Amino acid sequence: MDIFEEIIKGNIPSSKIYEDEICVAILDINPFEKGHVLLIPKCNESLIENIDSSILSHLAVISAVISKKLRTALNADDTNILINNGPVAGQEIKHTHIHIIPRFKERGGLMTIQKQKYNGDEQVEFRNKLLISKDDLKR
Ligand code: 5GP
Repeated sequence: MDIFEEIIKGNIPSSKIYEDEICVAILDINPFEKGHVLLIPKCNESLIENIDSSILSHLAVISAVISKKLRTALNADDTNILINNGPVAGQEIKHTHIHIIPRFKERGGLMTIQKQKYNGDEQVEFRNKLLISKDDLKR
């Protein structure tokens, strides 16, 4: 079982900001920027080309909801939304996931490519700020 399956099943703890029958969204444990979210489908496929179209459409919508939340809750100027699709493209965990990364002008935007660590209760604070509500889902 891969690590994201363990997280989906609740066997490994995570800072979850959203869950429905198709996907779960959690904070990346080593974020490029604090608030970096991983959107993970519950189906166990490593490549997006093997994922059902209706699931892909749903993931696109939820990615947009999360991107908007990063702007409103963290004042992100912009976001990167990306998929490392296969090991040669940098995919470490063989379970499709979408990275949604907040970017801030004053931190150099995309140029911030060093992974960070959350200190103390920071991860809980970010999780609470980014929790997706029913209102967030109304687009
Ligand atoms: P990939 O390189 O496969 O596109 O991205 C995998 C991501 O998962 C990395 O950004 C890494 O920091 C994150 N990650 C790895 N293990 C864990 C974990 O146990 N929990 C969480 N929340 N994120 C993880």
